[in-house]
Amino acid sequence: MSTLAETIPADTDANAKSGGHGLNLIGLPRAALSETLSRLGVPTRQCKMRVGQLWRWMYNRGVTSFDEMSDLGKELRQRLNEGCNIERPAITTTLNSTDGTIKWLLRLADGNEVEMVYIPDLDHGALCISSQVGCTLNCDFCHTGTMPLVRNLTAGEILGQFMLARDCLDDWPNPDGHRKISTIVMMGMGEPLLNYDNVSQALNIIMDSDGIALSRRSITLSTAGLVPAMERCGRELRVNLAVSLHAVTDKVRDQLVPLNRKHPIAELIQACRDYPSANNSRRITFEYVMLQEVNDSLEDANELVRLLRGLPAKINLIPFNPWPGAPYQCSSNNRIHRFASILNDAGFSAPIRAPRGRDIMAACGQLKSASEKIPASRRKNS
Ligand code: SAH
Repeated sequence: MSTLAETIPADTDANAKSGGHGLNLIGLPRAALSETLSRLGVPTRQCKMRVGQLWRWMYNRGVTSFDEMSDLGKELRQRLNEGCNIERPAITTTLNSTDGTIKWLLRLADGNEVEMVYIPDLDHGALCISSQVGCTLNCDFCHTGTMPLVRNLTAGEILGQFMLARDCLDDWPNPDGHRKISTIVMMGMGEPLLNYDNVSQALNIIMDSDGIALSRRSITLSTAGLVPAMERCGRELRVNLAVSLHAVTDKVRDQLVPLNRKHPIAELIQACRDYPSANNSRRITFEYVMLQEVNDSLEDANELVRLLRGLPAKINLIPFNPWPGAPYQCSSNNRIHRFASILNDAGFSAPIRAPRGRDIMAACGQLKSASEKIPASRRKNS
């Protein structure tokens, strides 16, 4: 494990432990659900069937209380009510952007806060989910990086965000099959690959065909370039990969994305070439934030073409979203378009991402909650 990972307390069951009452079942794998039911007195021979019923109520129907689980039997429902819960994170603030983007500030069971963003498109939308409270990577241009890290999210807290968004948008299964949330992007707060186990547990439940059943093609995981975990992600999760590249020389990238000092550009690009599920129909997205006079020269664009040549790649050019006190400015429109046309001429798709939700500070890199770092010693006692 990297040193960065070691700075994050492995508080994997914080949600379950500190929940309002009892054990939160959201995010538990089937085996753990079965053990829980057995502790509640369900006979062993019934456990598998009961887990199946619970699973469908929770993840297919999206019910928010055990009382709605009509086929479980009154007695089991009562025991579940006494010993367990299926609570989602709590909403502290909802902000609606003029462009339809919604940002929620969410409070977790231990009082920490994270943000989640829904970005609607014409007839569907993307949900941007957080993987950590804060972030250890300290990318120079990212607002989230200015928060002191608190902790990894549990699988239940990651999955709970998605379930809560479905609740809020009234997006659980309906007869016409239309979905408001059609894609998930792991592009909220945190570095998902530094919290691989919990992210993967949550995504596996989201992809499980008996429940939410979102396809791996509808999920994109974004990383700042944690090379050792990229291979595992491609092999095990096989979701779409996005890489926050942002610079074409190690000198500039070391400054913008300090993780580069550990895994420099050549190593990162090689890991992309090796990414198991990348091919022409499932390209790797390279995110490139446009920073005036920092990474936006025409030489930079040409070097980007050289670096990515032969890779099934798409480049998302992201106009820098300002935040108070940010040490950078966004490149001019002209510059961004010239940069894009060099990439296009070389055969790469390079859309310029339209900033969404800027008025509510929900755009890329603007997410920041007010959570403070709580010393591990104090958290253990609480
Ligand atoms: N840690 C992961 C997940 C975060 S994704 C990663 O780095 O990929 C958030 C994306 O928004 C990243 O590409 C990030 O580099 C980008 N970003 C951060 N701050 C930004 C800002 N102020 N303006 C535009 N994009 C930003």
